[in-house]
Amino acid sequence: MLWFLFYKNKLLIKVDSDSVSIPNKEDLTVLEIQLKREVYIGMLDNSPCFAAEITNDSQLLLPDGFNYKNLRELFSKSEDDIFRVAGRAYQILNWVRKHEFCGKCGGPTKNKADEIAKECPSCGAVSFPRISPAVIVAIVKEDKILLARNINFPTSFYSVLAGFVEPGETLEECVQREVKEEVGIEVKNIKYFGSQSWPFPDSLMIAFTAEYANGEIAVDTTEISHADWFSGCHMPVNIPGKTTIAGRLIEWFLER
Ligand SMILES: [Zn+2]
Repeated sequence: MLWFLFYKNKLLIKVDSDSVSIPNKEDLTVLEIQLKREVYIGMLDNSPCFAAEITNDSQLLLPDGFNYKNLRELFSKSEDDIFRVAGRAYQILNWVRKHEFCGKCGGPTKNKADEIAKECPSCGAVSFPRISPAVIVAIVKEDKILLARNINFPTSFYSVLAGFVEPGETLEECVQREVKEEVGIEVKNIKYFGSQSWPFPDSLMIAFTAEYANGEIAVDTTEISHADWFSGCHMPVNIPGKTTIAGRLIEWFLER
């Protein structure tokens, strides 16, 4: 039995020299830990996995061999499987916390027995964990790629464009709208590239490649501070790492 335990947005992990693992049932007895919102989240390597919040008033002083890790830090370092399940645990816990009361009648909800869902005993409403789809797109013009600096990014960090899907929109329409809104150009030949769960807090990133069609770059300054075409030999110094789908899109461009 593996326990994905969070103190705020930090995951409790076991550290053994270089490797990272998830505490099991025996570890929990060693740590004097109080939990709430325990929820079953699925299997990993034949072990049932649970997620819960640590409710101790202050961050626990942990014995040797245990540590807290910010989920974003784990993302770049840990085994894929651990991150995948930790991301799932974090998203489900966030959702559980926000759905303790029914959105329809305001009554207290219960965990549904047979699936990850909350049901309201008074009015029967059922809600499922929410996932917010977002598109991310590498736009290519001849031998250059369009990269932009978001106003919230650290200076010098450039990435491909991304944005949330709106109700009623197809993914391709979302790509066209986001690109037009953020940098003022039009794109064609939109092709599916891949996807990645992005648990910050509940996104699914759906990646595309596209070709420049027409227009001049005109950035929407509420979201983007600068955007430009970059050739493979003159890339910005600071770009996303290969563990992210943004980084894999950039890698795809560089290998073309
Ligand atoms: Zn209700």
